[in-house]
Amino acid sequence: RKCLSRIQRTKFLNAYITVSEEVALKQAEESEKRYKNGRSLGDLDGIPVAVKDNFSTSGIETTCASNMLKGYIPPFNATVVQKLLDQGALLLGKTNLDEFAMGSGSTDGAFGPVKNPWSFSKQYREQKREQRRPKLHREREGTDWLIAGGSSGGSAAAVSALTCFAALGSDTGGSTRNPAAHCGLVGFKPSYGLVSRHGLIPLVNSMDVPGILTRCVDDTAIVLGVLAGHDPKDSTTVQDPVKPFTLPSLTDVSKLCIGIPKEYLVPELSSEIRSLWSKAADLFESAGAKVIEVSLPHTSYSIVCYHVLCTSEVASNMARFDGLEYGHRCDVSVSTEAMYAATRREGFNDVVRGRILSGNFFLLKENYENYFIKAQKVRRLIANDFVNVFNSGVDILLTPTTLSEAVPFLEFIKEDNRTRSAQDDIFTQAVNMAGLPAVSVPAALSAQGLPVGLQFIGRAFCDQKLLTVARWFE
Ligand code: GLN
Repeated sequence: RKCLSRIQRTKFLNAYITVSEEVALKQAEESEKRYKNGRSLGDLDGIPVAVKDNFSTSGIETTCASNMLKGYIPPFNATVVQKLLDQGALLLGKTNLDEFAMGSGSTDGAFGPVKNPWSFSKQYREQKREQRRPKLHREREGTDWLIAGGSSGGSAAAVSALTCFAALGSDTGGSTRNPAAHCGLVGFKPSYGLVSRHGLIPLVNSMDVPGILTRCVDDTAIVLGVLAGHDPKDSTTVQDPVKPFTLPSLTDVSKLCIGIPKEYLVPELSSEIRSLWSKAADLFESAGAKVIEVSLPHTSYSIVCYHVLCTSEVASNMARFDGLEYGHRCDVSVSTEAMYAATRREGFNDVVRGRILSGNFFLLKENYENYFIKAQKVRRLIANDFVNVFNSGVDILLTPTTLSEAVPFLEFIKEDNRTRSAQDDIFTQAVNMAGLPAVSVPAALSAQGLPVGLQFIGRAFCDQKLLTVARWFE
């Protein structure tokens, strides 16, 4: 009940699209009964959680923050949602995002942007006071606030504002790690194939993974333990039995080799994050770890490569939204084609339509070889860069998560900033192309009083080791 009332008190953040109060209260009642009878279902029994609104939830509207899916009520639960419920977790609601998870600010959804809870924190307000301090209620309604990051900004804001203890995000190019960094949380992207995607409405099937947002690494490990494992409904999940994800305690890092990729030192990186990054490396070194500079030579191709692959898969994925099967249908009866076109024009925002157009261009017969196939080859080179580094003895890579701390909304939506927002994924996207596990961990508060995250990247399916190191650092 406290979580639900906090959701109401922090409504101005726009973190939730749907609050499933009745469902949650009923689940809580059942959980309480189990607790009294000493029959708790596990670590998550009775724990309030939230789920990004691109995971199907049986009987609860699932919109992907798009007009296209307004009113769509799935008849089934995504596997990860079902697993949470089977463990007794309480589903508080569905969280806000960029439309169909395309973006990195959570500013591009049909239900309006998500506000970063840190915009209203004491530390940040005190820093800003010297400049200007408008009345808080006006700020809450106006535009003077910071982005939450994205595209899982609603999930990040929900956990950060203490409305729930964990939230599911999705991560295709950084969408869990980026908002986690901006909202002062742990944001984890598991290895591709470790956690089922069944019921996660796809953005880029070959890169999407469900992500986990929590306030500490231990909580992430608990949720991962519940979610990980083979799913017959997702043929890309691995068959191997999955180890439990309880983290061994790590006190001695002297056997670890930490790699610092030199290509990640880009000119756009804020000097503050740069110095935090090097302080973190020093911390490992002074604890006895070996810290070495490494090279991921194809890094600079990752943004363009991602763009070709992402938009091509988007063009194909979005074909299912034709007005016949799901959600929105436009009232045009001249012809079926005219109905399709009008529905899609009304249902999708500019970002989605733009990606469908780009993707179809790359997939044209005359462009396919030159763009799509070439991008797949480059993707392989990018993935091999990581394999080479790990094969040379590096255990974990340490990088920044974002170029800067969270920026003000008005700055973020400026036209010229759109390119910057794509660049902001520079540290996170390549990991998705390689299918590796990665986690953003809060590292410090900036001079402005805002959270800054650093990212750890591990070898494929070494998720447990990655989280163990992240917890040592935390
Ligand atoms: N920012 C990237 C994009 O817009 C990644 C999104 C994501 O991870 N869902 O495609």
